Amino acid sequence: MTIQCGECKEYSENSAKECGKCGCPFPFSTAINADQAFPAPLIMGILSVILWIFPILGFPVSIVGLLMSNSAVKKSNGANGTMPRNLAMIGLFLSIINAIIGGYLGSRH
Ligand SMILES: [Zn+2]
Repeated sequence: MTIQCGECKEYSENSAKECGKCGCPFPFSTAINADQAFPAPLIMGILSVILWIFPILGFPVSIVGLLMSNSAVKKSNGANGTMPRNLAMIGLFLSIINAIIGGYLGSRH
């Protein structure tokens, strides 16, 4: 089994933690480490998917989760934080839909 480096396209052993040619760390191994070390963005992402039911909670939680996971993505060059960022984006999207539907139904009463 081999893994291809995202930087220089060199193939290395699948168990390698970094590229043997350019030394670039492989995303898979760092993603696991960082998600264990920084669970906060992931927790915020999961919360935002749950709390979208209440737009007043879903909006701030998903926006904070989005910012936190976005900085994790930037720090790791896209290796970590993409999963919580996706969760936070789903939460934000659902909160917006919920707010629009709520506002629409509210205006008809
Ligand atoms: Zn490389």
